[in-house]
Parts: sequence; C-alpha cells; structure tokens
Amino acid sequence: MLPEIRIHNALRLPDNDQWQFRFHIESASSNRLYVIAQHRKKLHWACSCPGWKRHRCCKHLTALRIPNYEQPYEVNIINY
Ligand SMILES: [Zn+2]
Repeated sequence: MLPEIRIHNALRLPDNDQWQFRFHIESASSNRLYVIAQHRKKLHWACSCPGWKRHRCCKHLTALRIPNYEQPYEVNIINY
C-alpha cells in the first residue's frame, strides 16, 4: 500500500507539463507560500523554497515525510 498525503482542496494547484499533484504550503517563518509537487516522469518531489532549490532538501518535504534529494516516491493523494 502506498503512503498517503492529505491535501486540502483549497491548497491544490493544477498540474503542468512537468509537475503533478501540485499544492501550496505556507512558510513557517513568513507569510510566503511555496509549491510542492511531484515530477511527472522522475516521480521525485520538489519544493519551491530556497532550501530545496539550493540543496534538494528542505523541511517542508521532511515534514510531509517525503524523501529529499530527488528520490522517486509514490503516494496516494487524498483530497479533502
Ligand atoms: Zn521547502
């Protein structure tokens, strides 16, 4: 069974060419919104925050128990 990620409908964003299951996440330290998404082909997850862009690792993915460093990771998305 795949791990589940629950995403509130208000945070969901449309898929685009490269990314699927896109959703907003709030920064803990500012009122900025970041985008988390899964790469359609490589199946790894990414975040739009500066930490992920620099290191391919961030606290947002970690908090969701999604692997960092572009490891492919499949989940069941549960909308609510
Ligand atoms: Zn992040």
